[in-house]
Amino acid sequence: MAVERTISIIKPDAVAKNVIGQIYARFEGAGLKIVAARMTQLSQKTAEEFYGIHRERPFFKDLVSFMISGPVMIQVLEGDNAITKNRDLMGATDPKKAAPGTIRADFADSIDANAVHGSDGPDTAKHEIGFFFPGMDVLSR
Ligand code: AMP
Repeated sequence: MAVERTISIIKPDAVAKNVIGQIYARFEGAGLKIVAARMTQLSQKTAEEFYGIHRERPFFKDLVSFMISGPVMIQVLEGDNAITKNRDLMGATDPKKAAPGTIRADFADSIDANAVHGSDGPDTAKHEIGFFFPGMDVLSR
């Protein structure tokens, strides 16, 4: 299995619920290491740039305003198959459809306030790591 790095964001709803530690425990329990982390409140410009791929989607405006509504916790996770592993831990985008025991089933309230973001593939992971942690290696040496 390949060692990968991926971006995870704990969104404003989950930060406000004070469950950063519980979510981190799930990453660690699945064998993922937190190799970089930063808490920040995103500006409108940064959130619009980060979600630029969704600019034309009907939910873009609500997504951006939600993502800037409070602090987020951004981390790089590292481990075997980290990209897929993180997405499995997160569960489906819509918490109503997320499998029991996933982060979204347990902590998310709606498709916008859905607790976490995770890179969806190697190219996205590379782009998102560079976006939030400039100069950081995509893979560990
Ligand atoms: P991502 O797919 O991770 O780049 O992020 C898209 C985000 O947009 C999701 O995590 C949701 O929070 C939000 N969103 C809101 N409405 C929708 C929708 N109808 N389909 C997909 N994502 C949505």
